Amino acid sequence: MTKEQALAEVAKRIAACEQCKFYPGQNPVPGEGNPDAEILFVGEAPGKKENETGRPFVGAAGQFLAEMLESIGLTREDVFIANTLKYRPPENRDPEPAEIAYQLPFLKKQIAIIQPKLICFLGRHAMSALLPNLGKTISQVHGELLDVGNQAYLPLYHPAAALYNGGMRSTLLADFARIPEYMDQIKKAN
Ligand code: URA
Repeated sequence: MTKEQALAEVAKRIAACEQCKFYPGQNPVPGEGNPDAEILFVGEAPGKKENETGRPFVGAAGQFLAEMLESIGLTREDVFIANTLKYRPPENRDPEPAEIAYQLPFLKKQIAIIQPKLICFLGRHAMSALLPNLGKTISQVHGELLDVGNQAYLPLYHPAAALYNGGMRSTLLADFARIPEYMDQIKKAN
């Protein structure tokens, strides 16, 4: 089975997810991008636009993410973009621990298939879901390359949080600008 086929299988399982019973009328948003991506971006959960289209990061935050990718010479098609939750929580509330626990295996399976060299967290929810024992807040570690269990991670602020906050926006852009240098570092170490 190719990576593309394996990812399509995961997307099918997400669409059939029992959990979606708790999200009546919501659409699955499994994630999309290059199955061979070296970089995986993980957000929080789909928003309104993402729920409507079934695609991750297609609203205002997604626009900003695309701009940041472009600033380092990449497009959405070069990377893989996914979320911690594959369904939009009602009223856009924060994900609950039980929801994350239930849906996290989907993301972990996507990671196992893609085998990205670098996983970029977009916001604290992705970071705490994948590195629950880190014991650090995103403001303490944003922009810092972490190596945990032989996987490189880069915590970044969520683009939505940075949209209307000039200081956070420039911090996020500066953190993003370090990705090429980090990728060189990761490739040299392997
Ligand atoms: N915010 C997220 O965390 N994910 C999306 O897909 C869109 C907005």
